[in-house]
Amino acid sequence: MRIERVSEILQRAYAEGRDFLFEHEAKELCRLYDLPVTKGRVVRSEEEAVKAAEEVGFPVVLKIVSPQILHKSDVGGVVLNVKDAQGVREAYEGILNNVKKRRPDAEIEGIYVQEMAPSSTEVIVGATKDPTFGPTIMFGLGGIFVEILKDVSFRLIPITRDDAVEMIHEIRSYKILEGARGMPKADEGALVDILLNTSRMVSECPEIKELDMNPILVYEKGAKIVDARVILEEKK
Ligand code: ADP
Ligand code: MG
Repeated sequence: MRIERVSEILQRAYAEGRDFLFEHEAKELCRLYDLPVTKGRVVRSEEEAVKAAEEVGFPVVLKIVSPQILHKSDVGGVVLNVKDAQGVREAYEGILNNVKKRRPDAEIEGIYVQEMAPSSTEVIVGATKDPTFGPTIMFGLGGIFVEILKDVSFRLIPITRDDAVEMIHEIRSYKILEGARGMPKADEGALVDILLNTSRMVSECPEIKELDMNPILVYEKGAKIVDARVILEEKK
């Protein structure tokens, strides 16, 4: 059942000649492996966007969906914290205008309307393939911790529950997850489950060349993946 839905998502991307999944497809894949992604859907008109926002519940986030745009906020393609129907219309138009200006070549697939996750500590989970050792999984805190301090941990896939716990404990900034400096204490169990389910997803889907869940917002109870990117292996 799951494997068929997974294969549908991958085959659609290959059929369209893409070597990556759109965010909504990557999140669909994640959801099949019980990873806690934001809910939402892709729409193609302002009316539909308002309807989707009402289904998801305010506040919402609107994002550009285009095969030419991998870094959505770089082109003004993300609007956060949209609070009502009027805001949805403005964000919808605003994104299309920004994209037209900054990436006139971009084909627009639609606009992704999604649940807005409350802000909190940001972590990232990624996977890549080492040419010698095969698939690896990575964990770290988001923002400057990964970009500047390179404070991340790695394991070969598949990992055990103990591996997942160790990966979380061994980063230098672990104290932040424990609730240092007034940060909320992170739900470690939720992070362990994310690492285990990610490992399982990557093991079972050899088509995944690279995976990047950045950021994941982690709360005292639970966590939410708000962006996900998947690069695919060349089709055999
Ligand atoms: P990009 O393609 O530029 O990486 P993202 O989807 O990551 O775009 O959005 C940019 C930033 O907006 C994220 O790093 C995160 O801080 C915030 N963000 C995105 N989606 C959500 C969401 N659903 N809820 C809360 N914050 C979000
Ligand atoms: Mg992102």
